[in-house]
Amino acid sequence: MNDLSTDPICALATASGMGAIAVIRVSGKGSKALVSKAFSKDLTALPSHTVHLGWMLAANGDRLDEVLATLFDHGKSFTGEESVELACHGSTFIQQLLLQRLAELGCRLAEPGEFTKRAFLNGRLDLSQAEAVADLIAAQSKQAHQVALQQLRGRFSSELQQLREQLIQFAALIELELDFGEEDVEFADRTALKLLVAEVLKMVRRLAASFELGNAIKNGVPVAIVGAPNTGKSTLLNQLLGEDRAIVSDIAGTTRDVIEEVLNIEGIQFRLIDTAGIRETTETIEALGIERSQQKIEQAKIVLCLTDASDSANFTETTAWVTSLKTLHPDKYILLVQNKADLKAASINEVSTAFDLQMSALTGNGVAELKAKLVALVLGDYNVQDETIVSNARHYAALLQTAAALERAQEGLYGHTTADFIAMDIREAMRQLGHITGQID
Ligand code: GDP
Repeated sequence: MNDLSTDPICALATASGMGAIAVIRVSGKGSKALVSKAFSKDLTALPSHTVHLGWMLAANGDRLDEVLATLFDHGKSFTGEESVELACHGSTFIQQLLLQRLAELGCRLAEPGEFTKRAFLNGRLDLSQAEAVADLIAAQSKQAHQVALQQLRGRFSSELQQLREQLIQFAALIELELDFGEEDVEFADRTALKLLVAEVLKMVRRLAASFELGNAIKNGVPVAIVGAPNTGKSTLLNQLLGEDRAIVSDIAGTTRDVIEEVLNIEGIQFRLIDTAGIRETTETIEALGIERSQQKIEQAKIVLCLTDASDSANFTETTAWVTSLKTLHPDKYILLVQNKADLKAASINEVSTAFDLQMSALTGNGVAELKAKLVALVLGDYNVQDETIVSNARHYAALLQTAAALERAQEGLYGHTTADFIAMDIREAMRQLGHITGQID
């Protein structure tokens, strides 16, 4: 396949398998003429964005299926190329029949992602938007869908464009100084430059920091429920799963021996790690089951440590454990959850402020608060609706490089680095931002 090929390609545009209808997309130069060879009327002269009912015909003139053909002119379709979308009946047999017929007429079957690639090459989408198409299709939750959609609409791209423009302004000022070489003049107002770099750096850092959230939204947030036997772990699990169990067929990145339950709370997926372990009735002799918990904690982003409110010995032990966990794993959210609040022992009352949450898994009291807390931990102070969230590892890496270059430029401005070095760092920052959208100058 040539990168710049424009030959007509075809593929099923709807999900594979049977449905009421299926859509076959034909894209490339001469698509209308190609389809017309097997269609009951000539489509070549008909205008863009019109729909035509007709029959797809076999080579001997036999009717294959009655379809609706939607026409798109060059520059007006998803790919940017002349295209025809055939809505046919949805059986896999008919889909295959029509694709075969198109192949007979010389239409090549599209490779995975080839339509999107053409859209990118034709400037219909920039690179970050093209990547968003894949994310959008894979999105399994409301929030993941939202993040991909924003990226597809180009908000991220236009934000990056703004950042680049600010840097271009900066580079222009500082490069003016370079033209005067030895004369030791400073055209560029250093105070203004410092402000500009600080501002752009702040925005780049915020975007980069959103990756943790973006990644969590895209891939789900691993949660571990740990605690001594009989603190109520499986009762809590059942409470949580009662309403919000997500229907998932396959979870990427998990092996079959690790059983996970998936919860969908306010459009975010939480993956509960090793729930098989929780359901096991025989617990280890060790008081907190720490040995086995350790592994779960390693994999988790959020750890719920359960204590039993009716058992003050357990309370003391668990509190100490949580304190050590917090120092050991500063990058995780470790929550001390006091369960069985309905049975609360008087001795524990006085220190209840030490808990992140109090609840009763048995009665369900406090479970709503727990869920709200989980969502709040993931979202932090980001607003998924109104703010750009980075969810792509490649974008994240480029943003980190941008920030590093800007930090060097900033150091240069405060130190006595010559203008040419500062200009070099600014150009590097611009280059890195350009990587994200696939912009090359
Ligand atoms: P696990 O060993 O940590 O999984 O604990 P279980 O979920 O099996 O609970 C142990 C016992 O505590 C069971 O008899 C539960 O019914 C009981 N239990 C769990 N949560 C609560 C609670 O919030 N209040 C009360 N009163 N009992 C609870």
